Amino acid sequence: TPWTAADDRYDEGAGRATYRRCGRSGLDLPAVSLGFWHNFGDVDRYETQRETLRRALDLGVTHLDLANNYGPPAGSAEVNFGRHLRDGLGAYRDELIISTKAGYRMGPGPYGDGGSRKYLVSSLDQSLQRMGLDYVDVFYHHRPDPSTPLEETMGALADIVRSGKALYVGVSNYSPARTRDAARVLDGLGVPLTVHQPSYSMFNRHVEDPAHEDGYDGTQTESLLDVLGDLGVGAVVFSPLQQGLLTDRYLTGAAPEGSRAARSSSPFLSSDNLSETYLARARALNEVAQGRGQTLAQLALTWILRDDRVTSTLVGASSARQLEDSVAAASAPALTDDEIAAIEPHAVH
Ligand code: NDP
Repeated sequence: TPWTAADDRYDEGAGRATYRRCGRSGLDLPAVSLGFWHNFGDVDRYETQRETLRRALDLGVTHLDLANNYGPPAGSAEVNFGRHLRDGLGAYRDELIISTKAGYRMGPGPYGDGGSRKYLVSSLDQSLQRMGLDYVDVFYHHRPDPSTPLEETMGALADIVRSGKALYVGVSNYSPARTRDAARVLDGLGVPLTVHQPSYSMFNRHVEDPAHEDGYDGTQTESLLDVLGDLGVGAVVFSPLQQGLLTDRYLTGAAPEGSRAARSSSPFLSSDNLSETYLARARALNEVAQGRGQTLAQLALTWILRDDRVTSTLVGASSARQLEDSVAAASAPALTDDEIAAIEPHAVH
């Protein structure tokens, strides 16, 4: 018999997903969503991927975040996701919000990187082919490309929506000022900027900081979250667990076997990150979490979700159990002012 998703998957609360409206659009997203940057490449076990994805659907986690270059090797996360769609998930296509992106290097030569119309349109076609889909729900420009006119990049996103290959568009890693410009250009083309994907965690708070802007000249007063709130663009934030540093994974001071910091396929996190300063902060935060009956991962997510300009936190998960733990954070009681104050000294800017 084919796999079927749990009947109670949309009963919000009790450890299942809760939903938030994405900015001033009509799109609801789960407060905790699943990302494919790690754990879904050819280097990762297929059965573990399948169990994690099935758990996601069972819990109401409808939003799955991919990119052309996820793997390794690059592209393999989309190929594997296509296999999972054919292996049961595809029956729920209309209940899924599938995102992909282009903007980092994916192919050789001048058309495999950047923000040109040529790269964006051909990359999305390749992504659709790898996944075996006719359209994605959200297509993002993955990072700013100052060498390409913003009108060209946004024009490509608008035409992609008109072509029916994406329902919504977004940008990722854009500064506050560039985000305003992007939204204005898209507006002029009659296509809204629906979502922005920045990084955000207790250890990485640039989205709160007006002075983070590229080319900051001392006069800017708006943080990225201020801009998104004002424009009505949803924030879907990545690496909310700081790649695992804001979980119980590393509290002993060592990187356990199989963890991201111990894996050679993950050049962005290593045991060099486990400094004394890190350990002191993580252990102090873990105590606040324990005081609330939460795991550190859950506290890190509940803390981000305190701001309603954040639509969703995009977590990675190397097991179904991790995803389940993270999703439960969305239905935890809100932080009290005292708890927020206790977190503040350990949550660095
Ligand atoms: P996280 O900060 O959520 O880190 C995920 C890692 O934390 C997991 O792989 C796992 O580590 C550990 N973990 C997760 N949940 C738990 C838990 N409940 N308890 C204990 N450990 C846990 O996010 P990622 O860095 O993975 O990023 C999330 C997503 O954001 C990506 O998949 C991608 O979709 C998106 N992203 C977007 C970027 C962009 O430029 N737009 C850039 C980076 C990410 P372990 O593997 O060691 O078990």
